[in-house]
Amino acid sequence: MHEMSLMENALQVVDDLMVNYNGAKVNEIVLKVGRLANCIPGALEFAFEALTREGPYKDAKLVIEKEPVLLKCAECSQVFEAGEFPWTCTCGSNAIEIIGGTEVYVANIDIDESE
Ligand SMILES: [Zn+2]
Repeated sequence: MHEMSLMENALQVVDDLMVNYNGAKVNEIVLKVGRLANCIPGALEFAFEALTREGPYKDAKLVIEKEPVLLKCAECSQVFEAGEFPWTCTCGSNAIEIIGGTEVYVANIDIDESE
C-alpha cells in the first residue's frame, strides 16, 4: 500500500527527532498532505494506526491537513493556488508548473516530555 510506505517515511522523521527526547511520548503528529499527493486520508489513518501501536507513539493522534496545489507561471513567475482545471495564469499564460501540493510530510509534532 502506497500510504503505508508514506507513513513509514513520515514516522522515520519523527523517530530521528525523538532520539533527542529520551523517554518522551508523542501526543500528536500533524501531517501535511498535498492534494496531488495521491493519498487517501482513510488509508493514511489506517497506516498510522498500524504503525503506532507501541513505543513513543502509543495513543498518539494523527492530524491530517490538506495542502493546496501551488502553481507557478512560467511566463510571469506568479505563484498561485490551483483552482479549477485547466489552469491559467492571470497574465493569460497556460505554461504552468506545479511547485507544491504533491508531497506528504510531517509539519508538526507535539511531544509530551513529562513522562
Ligand atoms: Zn503568468
